[in-house]
Amino acid sequence: MITRFAPSPTGPLHLGHAYSALLAHDTARAAGGQFFLRIEDIDSTRSRPEWETQIYEDLQWLGITWDADPMRQSDRIPAYQEALQTLWDQGLIYPCSCSRRDIAAAASAPHEGEPVYGPDGLIYPGTCRAEPTGEMPMGQALRLNMAKATERLSAPFSFTQTGTGTITTSAQDLIEGVGDIVLSRRDFPGSYHLSVVLDDAAQGITHVIRGEDLFEATQIHVVLQQLLGLETPVYTHHRLIRDDAGKRLAKRDDARAIATYRQAGATPAQIREMVGL
Ligand code: GLU
Repeated sequence: MITRFAPSPTGPLHLGHAYSALLAHDTARAAGGQFFLRIEDIDSTRSRPEWETQIYEDLQWLGITWDADPMRQSDRIPAYQEALQTLWDQGLIYPCSCSRRDIAAAASAPHEGEPVYGPDGLIYPGTCRAEPTGEMPMGQALRLNMAKATERLSAPFSFTQTGTGTITTSAQDLIEGVGDIVLSRRDFPGSYHLSVVLDDAAQGITHVIRGEDLFEATQIHVVLQQLLGLETPVYTHHRLIRDDAGKRLAKRDDARAIATYRQAGATPAQIREMVGL
């Protein structure tokens, strides 16, 4: 068993991160497996080296150990480009120049009915969808042609999640409920979905243990694994740690930052207790 914790260095780790990291770590250790770290820093405007340093300190303080040097997404651009090229050569991705505003306007046009939201926000209305021709463009967003992608998927399209069992989705659900998601951004040759799939495969992750906020994204990850010929790990989505008002914790929520508890004299055992471990 190989599990991982994959934080973005865009703020302090809070109790929700502690829960996720401890759960993935403890699960691997209990099985005699391995635990890896990955720094998800593709958002260069928000990622900071100070936050990365603090992630390591907080995790060590919690008693978490990792079995290899952490992987950093900003070092993985060649791998992302190679996968994009593969998808481009297969005619599965196309360039898109729509702004968020263009998408919102097209999706709410009178003849479109009620706008539909998927795991990535509004379902892309398909304005730029076209057969890719020539060289793959750089510095432009690239979207997956979901209708074409579904023709390549094994049927029935399903994957396993512990707790809820096997989840089956259909081509129609993917086209209507997920749509043409972004796989490469204008400012970075990759996107969360593409990177996470390639990195989990590169790190040999067998069990992905992460928050249930990513439950809907998992179908996207399994689609990409099938298109790129990668193994699908077992997915477990855990409950989210919420504040007293029931809202899920955000990066800005410094009051629940692990560092704040540390400074106030809390012990790692108390943090475990606070998150119900
Ligand atoms: N980097 C993501 C986050 O901080 C987690 C990605 C994942 O676990 O798949 O929310």
